[in-house]
Amino acid sequence: MPSFVIAEKCDGCKALDRTACQYICPNDLMVLDKEREKAYNQEPEWCWECYSCVKICPQQAIEIRSYADFMPLGASTIPLRGSEDIMWTIKYRDGRIKRFKYKIRTTPEGSIRALEGFPEPSPEDLKNPLLMGEPNIMGVDELPTLKK
Ligand code: SF4
Ligand code: SF4
Repeated sequence: MPSFVIAEKCDGCKALDRTACQYICPNDLMVLDKEREKAYNQEPEWCWECYSCVKICPQQAIEIRSYADFMPLGASTIPLRGSEDIMWTIKYRDGRIKRFKYKIRTTPEGSIRALEGFPEPSPEDLKNPLLMGEPNIMGVDELPTLKK
């Protein structure tokens, strides 16, 4: 089931131009009602339940009815994100609570240089059928191509 915003908890990220949930949604589904300072999912049927907005919301204001392999029917889940891990709180419908913690990174924050070692991109690259870093990143000098 798609994400939904609990209006009482959402503070509209203090009415910033772009809220955390807007920033993170890969499908651009979250919008902010500036008058009410509340966010909402504008197209729930397009939500692929990726949990990104749930995890990033600083107010724990977004919920998803989770899959059965993650938690049983009728339970709710609340993540608390730290810089190293996420603490998940699962509240069962009979009131029981379980918590578990998942590590979300193994390197210090800000230490990853994703583009280190890659050549500077140029407009000519748009005509190149290879992806960035290919073929060297695949560990080969050349990728097989159809010979004409
Ligand atoms: S990230 Fe959370 S608090 Fe911020 S606007 Fe979205 S739902 Fe509201
Ligand atoms: S669960 Fe994923 S796809 Fe759905 S609204 Fe949140 S960030 Fe967007």
